[in-house]
Amino acid sequence: MTLSVEIVPLLADNYGYLLVDGRTGTTAFVDPAEAAPVVARVRARGGRLDWILLTHHHGDHVAGTAELVAAFGAKVAGAAADAHRLPPLDRALAEDDRFELGAASARVLATPGHTTGHVSYLFEESGDLFCGDTLFVMGCGRLIEGDAEAMWRSLAKLAALPPATRVWCGHEYTLANARFALSLDPENEALRARAVEVERLRMAGRPTVPSTIGEERATNPFLRAGEPAIRARMGTVGASAVEAFAAVRRAKDRFRG
Ligand SMILES: [Zn+2]
Repeated sequence: MTLSVEIVPLLADNYGYLLVDGRTGTTAFVDPAEAAPVVARVRARGGRLDWILLTHHHGDHVAGTAELVAAFGAKVAGAAADAHRLPPLDRALAEDDRFELGAASARVLATPGHTTGHVSYLFEESGDLFCGDTLFVMGCGRLIEGDAEAMWRSLAKLAALPPATRVWCGHEYTLANARFALSLDPENEALRARAVEVERLRMAGRPTVPSTIGEERATNPFLRAGEPAIRARMGTVGASAVEAFAAVRRAKDRFRG
């Protein structure tokens, strides 16, 4: 195993991730929404934390950063575009930069839409994607700063990754996302089977991450906004791919399922 990933649930429904490069022991934490559970987990593993990787500037992704820096001397990496509103960065990253975690290496993907400076981290060798609030399991982030076109481009970039790529997202929103997905795409057998599976996982108190890019392409209504059945339901037959996506995003914002 080149890169191990441990899920650390934070706050009400956030996920942070503890990454360890198996060859060097170099350790990072992705999106520390709060410090205490992360400090406990890092101490339990021997007290090494070399890096904090930030996907975007929202408080529920960065609030634990200062305390982790103080506790472990970790360095901080995040988007150069948002350096002015992220915790102080030791590495400021942009599209296609490489981030080395020991012998593991991530490609930085600019994935704006939820925020303008949002980045994702793709560890290509192990096939692990940390995409914050861009792509969720059967969902996507709200368009808080970016527009539909920016988010659609970001999602298309992620959807084009190898299907086996594991998707480690920023929140456990999956049950609500599945209800919305079923409302648009009720004949989709892959979606129906998956909705049953995620219900079972949540009933057992287990996370629904990681997903994979292949599963998302088969079941995520935002990635499938251009499918004929969804276009017909949304009234976007003949509309552009961006318009079709924007209509699904607006429908989700209104959805009370
Ligand atoms: Zn956010």
